[in-house]
Amino acid sequence: MTLNGKVMVTGGAGYIGSHAVLALLDAGYQVVVVDNLVTGFDWAVDERAAFVNIAVEDPGVRDVIRAHDVKAIMHFAGSVVVPESVSDPLKYYRNNTAATRSLIESAVAEGVPHFIFSSTAATYGTPERVPIAEGDPKAPINPYGMSKLMTEFMLRDVSAAHPMNHCCLRYFNVAGADPEGRSGQSTVGATHLIKIAVEAATGKRDGVGVFGTDFETRDGTGVRDYIHVSDLAEAHVAALKLLVDRPGESHVLNCGYGRGFSVLEVLDAVDRVTNLTIERKLQGRRPGDPAELVADNSAILKTIDWTPKRDDLEGIVRDALAWERKLAERQG
Ligand code: UDP
Repeated sequence: MTLNGKVMVTGGAGYIGSHAVLALLDAGYQVVVVDNLVTGFDWAVDERAAFVNIAVEDPGVRDVIRAHDVKAIMHFAGSVVVPESVSDPLKYYRNNTAATRSLIESAVAEGVPHFIFSSTAATYGTPERVPIAEGDPKAPINPYGMSKLMTEFMLRDVSAAHPMNHCCLRYFNVAGADPEGRSGQSTVGATHLIKIAVEAATGKRDGVGVFGTDFETRDGTGVRDYIHVSDLAEAHVAALKLLVDRPGESHVLNCGYGRGFSVLEVLDAVDRVTNLTIERKLQGRRPGDPAELVADNSAILKTIDWTPKRDDLEGIVRDALAWERKLAERQG
């Protein structure tokens, strides 16, 4: 079945959202981006998409839905810095939970039939076992994860009460950039490992702190499941097709490759790609970091029509590095 209308992408000027916009446009969908540019950039929005500068909680979103004949929403807008969520929890419950409640209200009022939500592995907290399956305990250890889990609950209840199905995609560690160089991670003050490492490789930093060397992992450093942002973007398009094809069903799916790399393995990959030796500054653990987060991805592989194409750590680093170099040129 096809979608007879546009896809609204909130946060489409941000990192993951801008890649979803590209994947949707490349697949032939029409897109309207809703973004208030607090952390995103208007130049990150592909010119084939319409753009409206408005906050997701603004009741004017209803007008956007009507004007653009929106038939599905992909909701990326929100705050994403875990330590900040600990020091300023109300910002997260406002920007993530409360703002999303308003957006869902607009969607229900206008009869939007499909909703795809950016959720997170942080909903699991410290996992009891790895790889983590969707049905495993959800016990967030920070307000960021809780703010997203609360949204999952809202969507569950709304889909039971109204003709709107949804898919919550729980992202593991998203990294890399569009292989064609059209978008990438541009956020100022990023904290994520691969972004930090390519910043070090391009001279923006003088090394990389390794947060904890005494975890119970193969080399003592934290293990994560790094997924290429373009594979993740394509998963959203496949999830949308499923929601359109099966109107009565909603889903919650992990997004990862099902394998992990340690911090030192990531830095070794960066060294190989760049032919440099990035300085490793061994430090104590960062508060709240679990030893290992790896997705059980069997559900997503059998539920949506999606085959990951970029499960290659060096390829992820190469794409992230190419974008970092482009960004350095842009910023002079
Ligand atoms: N990490 C690190 N140095 C950094 C940033 C991250 O050692 O400068 C580690 C972090 O402790 C974790 C892994 O890299 O084990 C991934 O962290 P990131 O912040 O990228 O994502 P998270 O898993 O926290 O969402």
